Amino acid sequence: MAQPAFYRVHENDVDIQAYQLQKLNQLLVFAVHCNEFYKEKLKDITLPIRSLEELNKLPLTLKKELAEDQIRYAPFGRNHSYPETSYIRYHQTSGTSGRPLKVLDTKESWDWWQDCWLEVLKSAGVTSKDRLFLAFGFGPFIGFWAAYEAAKKAGTLVIPGGAQSSSERLYSILENKANVLLCTPSYALHLAEIAEQNGFDIKNSHVHTMITAGEPGGSIASVREQIESHWNAKLYDHVGMTEIGAYGFSCSQQKGIHVNESQFLAEVINPETIEPVTEGERGELVLTNLGRYGFPLIRYRTGDMVRKNNQSCSCGNPYRFFEDGILGRADDMVIVRGVNIYPQSIEAIVREFREINEFRIVYYTVDEMNQVKVQIEASMDVTDELKVRLRERIGLRIEVERLENGELPRFELKARRVLDQRDSKVKKTP
Ligand SMILES: [Zn+2]
Repeated sequence: MAQPAFYRVHENDVDIQAYQLQKLNQLLVFAVHCNEFYKEKLKDITLPIRSLEELNKLPLTLKKELAEDQIRYAPFGRNHSYPETSYIRYHQTSGTSGRPLKVLDTKESWDWWQDCWLEVLKSAGVTSKDRLFLAFGFGPFIGFWAAYEAAKKAGTLVIPGGAQSSSERLYSILENKANVLLCTPSYALHLAEIAEQNGFDIKNSHVHTMITAGEPGGSIASVREQIESHWNAKLYDHVGMTEIGAYGFSCSQQKGIHVNESQFLAEVINPETIEPVTEGERGELVLTNLGRYGFPLIRYRTGDMVRKNNQSCSCGNPYRFFEDGILGRADDMVIVRGVNIYPQSIEAIVREFREINEFRIVYYTVDEMNQVKVQIEASMDVTDELKVRLRERIGLRIEVERLENGELPRFELKARRVLDQRDSKVKKTP
């Protein structure tokens, strides 16, 4: 099945929702006939769906269900619609929350991934004239795999940076005059730190564009500004998930994340009531991938929190966007002395300090009460200033502990900057 190009929906002046509804119904009919997992889940649903307002008649899909299905129908589960011989790519989730999910793609599904990533490259203005550096080791985590494929389609030269030290990567970026750098936001900062220690002049390198993914930092203003300032380059954010696909990207306005609505249907729900939230309200993002027939997901609870927004973006892209991108994980929230804490809210403040090289959030328990402290590595003592800013903005007195340089871990892929040392008894009743 041919996939539409970016903006095709818009250029043809077809209503996006009508287009999505048509694609959704095609997918549903396919799923109930060809996909054993959804055949069972959708057995009581009458097709076709008449409007997107009826979407909530369809059941939600949970990661837990897919994981259990893969245990029961090991190793790959029933959500793979075609015979195994049709599949050409294997990936697994990073496993940060539970057992990794295994996800296979057919040639068509993998082409679909590539086309979705092509939109990310286009939104960042990448063309065949550019030289992309991928600071990424190709493993079972999907990371920048599809970016690699999309660059081929865009006709862009790719310089691979797998199995290299940070210094080797920096050398390669400078030596080969790479001008677009793809990595996680944490790693962009880490590379800047290594560059400073070893005399690599990244400010005057050819890198003018960066695309970060894997963590939400690219849409946190203070993180983005710090990366842009170190690298003297413009940063674009990308969001995707192994399970669902490469669904979003930031634009020239850098205000948030656009959802590629020609390929994904997005809803925002209250994670407790599972009802849709209202405009401006924070909720969990639920996605349906409309074109990945080899591994379809219908109303998948991503666990990512976003703010519902019906405003259009001034960049001219007609697709809906979520201001400030992903605001945190629904299960990352911890209540400390009555205040809801998301690690990202702390990160946004910590990254306002250029002196801080690395940090970690530690949750612990005192007298059966949740507590939180922030550990930092910093070139100057900014402990008191950080305490004041955390108190003003989070509304809570938070301890700050300054550590020696090098005490905290550094990350190439998804950073783990939260250390949870709470008693399990307290964890369950935050
Ligand atoms: Zn925009």
